[in-house]
Amino acid sequence: MEPRDLSAHTVYQAGRGIEEVARDLGLDPDDLVKLASNENPFGPSPAAVEAIREAAATASSYPKASHADLTEKLADEWGVSPGQIWLGNGGDGVLDYLARAMLEPGDTVLVPEPGFAYYGMSARFHHGEVERYHLSKADDFALTAETVLSDYDDERVVYLTSPHNPTGGRFDLEAVETVADETGEDTLVVVDEAYGEFAEGPSAVELVDSRDDVAVLRTFSKVYGLAGVRLGYGVVPETWADAYARVNTPFAASEVACRAGLAALDDDDHAEKTVETAAWAREYVYERLDAPTWESHANFVLAEVGDAAGVADVLQRRGVIVRDCTSFGLPECVRITCGTKDETRRAVSELNEVLSS
Ligand SMILES: *Cc1c(COP(=O)(O)O)cnc(C)c1O
Repeated sequence: MEPRDLSAHTVYQAGRGIEEVARDLGLDPDDLVKLASNENPFGPSPAAVEAIREAAATASSYPKASHADLTEKLADEWGVSPGQIWLGNGGDGVLDYLARAMLEPGDTVLVPEPGFAYYGMSARFHHGEVERYHLSKADDFALTAETVLSDYDDERVVYLTSPHNPTGGRFDLEAVETVADETGEDTLVVVDEAYGEFAEGPSAVELVDSRDDVAVLRTFSKVYGLAGVRLGYGVVPETWADAYARVNTPFAASEVACRAGLAALDDDDHAEKTVETAAWAREYVYERLDAPTWESHANFVLAEVGDAAGVADVLQRRGVIVRDCTSFGLPECVRITCGTKDETRRAVSELNEVLSS
């Protein structure tokens, strides 16, 4: 027997892991600088680490209280009701819940290109079809309402990434509002703010109050350093928030994840240090890297280096792992995650040497 026809489905290509690369190259993992997956260079919030240790003792229980507590705490922070917070197994899990709640078989979604691969994957899992709107490099990957609307054709869900991965650009709130206004009544605009904490300016959660056609995605993977724990959430309109109970996998976020998330939300020092260092690193890369870059509002910088696969490979042999953006459709670009100051300096200096040879 065979699975169903999966020929239209693509495989997610993650940045390479440090152990994997170290093994391949016969290097010590401790000598490698990994700036390929937009993870937190400081590791998890120390408060979350402590909470994870403690949660080990209660891992035999389903996460009832912790799930409710985290939902409530997030609702409080955003000034929405608890029902409007949809926890998931990473932001990716939340994308699945939104697709489950929105898509009938054959419905179409509109995704950015270049952009985050999982939007389309998730839609296809839910028997949806995928169309694309195009960010133009000639236009510095500008993110305006027109960028999206010129390719919009009554899709059921439109995905906006703000700040955008992999370019680092963002939509301003008026642009998001215009997209929501100009698209059909039955079109949901999902604003993916996985990097929202790194950007200045208001969150699209502001729009969720007054509209029923905007939902916002957030994650604990980036600023809170909990990518390995898998925890994210959506903020959705009150009018259809109750759909969560019908579409979620029971106990969508684990006991360990919920406890870690609760602790991380109170660890302002770790989050502030992360955001400040990312801002420093972005400036450092713009100024010191001998390659064109684009302004970023996230914890990474996109740079044009020529043959990205070749450059990333040589750089990796020198112990610095960056993301070759070929799989994003940008074979001339690499994406460099903001590291600690030392890591960022080393990455820029190694990359400059590779570029000059
Ligand atoms: C990292 C990321 C996410 C969420 O990742 P999770 O680890 O599943 O929370 C979502 N969207 C974009 C654009 C991302 O880069």
